[in-house]
This record gives sequence, C-alpha cells and structure tokens, in this order.
Amino acid sequence: MSMDQEPLMEIRGLKKYYPIRNGILPHTVGFIHAVDGVDFEIYPGETLGLVGESGCGKSTIGRQLVALEKPTEGTISYEGIPLEDRSANGMKKIRTQIQMVFQDPYTSLNPRKRVYDLLAYPMLYHGICSKREVEAEINRLLDMVGLPQSAKDRYPHEFSGGQRQRIGIARALSLQPKMIVCDEPVSALDVSIQAQILNLLRNLQKELKLTYLFIGHGLDAVKYISDRIAVMYLGRIVEIAEAGELFDHPVHPYTKALCSAAPIPDPEARDRKRIILQGELPSNKDIPSGCRFHTRCPYAIDSCRTSDPALQPIHPGSKHLAACPVLIKGLGGKEERNA
Ligand code: SF4
Repeated sequence: MSMDQEPLMEIRGLKKYYPIRNGILPHTVGFIHAVDGVDFEIYPGETLGLVGESGCGKSTIGRQLVALEKPTEGTISYEGIPLEDRSANGMKKIRTQIQMVFQDPYTSLNPRKRVYDLLAYPMLYHGICSKREVEAEINRLLDMVGLPQSAKDRYPHEFSGGQRQRIGIARALSLQPKMIVCDEPVSALDVSIQAQILNLLRNLQKELKLTYLFIGHGLDAVKYISDRIAVMYLGRIVEIAEAGELFDHPVHPYTKALCSAAPIPDPEARDRKRIILQGELPSNKDIPSGCRFHTRCPYAIDSCRTSDPALQPIHPGSKHLAACPVLIKGLGGKEERNA
C-alpha cells in the first residue's frame, strides 16, 4: 500500500442525518447527526481501520460506501468518479466491486437457502460465471475460506458462528470485489475464532490484492489488521494515522483514552495507566458546541467550547492528522498541563 498512488475511494464532506419525527400529525422535529462532515481516502491494497464507540457513525459510513444508504451531503468517489455521477449500469458494476461483510453472519444469511444457493444466486445474477461453471466456482470459494466442499449442501443454522462468518466472506468474494467493507466482522465471535477470521481476511487480502475498510469498536482487532486507523467520535473523525504511529503517539485525548484501554500482550508494559473518560457520550441529536469532545475532555480550555476544530497535521507535512489544536500546539512536552 502506498499513499502516493491515486485513492481507490475518496470521501469528502460526508454527512448523514436521520429525521426525528413526532406529533399527532408526524413532522420533523430534529435530526440525528449520525455522520457529520467526514473526509478520508482509502488507497488500493490497504486496510483502513475505523474505530469508535457504538453510535459514533462508523457503520453508517460503511453502509454509504456500499451504496446501501445515500448521503445527506458530501461525495463518495470510487476510482476518481463520484457515485452520484455514475449511470445505473455503472452503479450495478460498482455494487459488485464493493462488497460488505456484516457483524452478524446469521442474520445476513437467508436461513431457508442452502449455502449453494446463497453463493450461486449473486454470481449468476451478475454474470460472474455460467450455470455450468457455478458449482466449480462455489467449491473454489469454499476452499478459499477454509470450508469443506460438502458445506454447500447445508443450511446456515448447521454452522458455528465462525463458519457462518466464513460463508459471509465467501459470499462477498463471489462477486470478485476490489474492496470489502468489514463491519465489525469479529465482534460477535469468541476470541480464538476472532484470530482465525482476522488471519483469513489478511491472507485473502494478500492473495487477491483486496482493499478493506475494517470497522470495529475495540482497538485490538483493528490494530492487528489495519495499515492506517481513523478514530471517530460523535460523527466525526478526530484522528487518523498509520496504525503503529497512532498507538505509539496518540495525540487526540479520545484516542489516548481508547489506546489506554486496549489489552497489552507484553506483561512488562502492563503497568500502563488507563485513562477513564468522565461523563456520558453526548447524544447525536444534540451535538455540543465547539469541540464536540469538550464535555469529556480533561485538557479542555475556554476556546474549546466555541471553536470547532478541523483535522490538521500534527507537524507540518505529517500524514498523522488530529482535530485538537490545543494538544498539537502543546506537542513538545506540555500536554499534561490540564490533565
Ligand atoms: Fe479537548 Fe479542546 Fe482538544 Fe477538543 S480541542 S480534544 S476539548 S483539548
């Protein structure tokens, strides 16, 4: 992966607001700001991790990238062309090239269909292979995700959670995508199974040169698989950097708290201080003024209540961006002043 090449996907000013309707004659009384002005790029062959608390808008971004939902505002470009400028045929092609793996494989697989049908239908519909070739193609897909060929004659309820997620991955691969949005694909699985699925995704990425957006709410799985990580808080990206850099030198106070909560396998490093954030996550119906993190931030100063910070490089020319001018200014030793 190189950030010097053209991005596969480019997201600019992305917003998604859901109306809140109320009253005897229902009318719009407000909006849920699920995604509230987000910019980022995804480069060919990379895994971009997207992490944050439940309700921060990360899954909404995933659904918009696969065109399951339309943005309220902003542009999503794929290979340099905005999705809204594509023809119906162009969008049909994009729908095969960007696939999704869901958190709960059981609810995303039709329980009345055998694995054969679950995999055959999308391939035949999109003309990926002919009826004569479809069985060989299904066998190949099952082999790639580590399932026996006999699995194609069984129903989803006959499999364990990890096996069902392998079927979900096989279904995503069946359309020969370039990019896969993985929406918390291991959150519902046991820890040992999580590692197997993460390794499978990594191996498939190498073999098929896939690009991933990997959505998660815990930093440990996201760190394991990602080249870069974007941290979301209340509908915005507050920090983005290479995975190692983000863990070793987090700048935004929210990222610092997330990193401090991630498990450390090294016993010698276990005396690291955990940062406990005070206060509740504000509602995305009523976003705080200024910096949206100021109600929980131990470093907040007066200007944080009025001035809404944008992502900016932490040093001139750096690809590590954070939305906290206070700590960026203090880099060099004065970060702890208000903590
Ligand atoms: Fe905290 Fe202010 Fe930085 Fe926001 S801008 S994260 S409130 S210090």
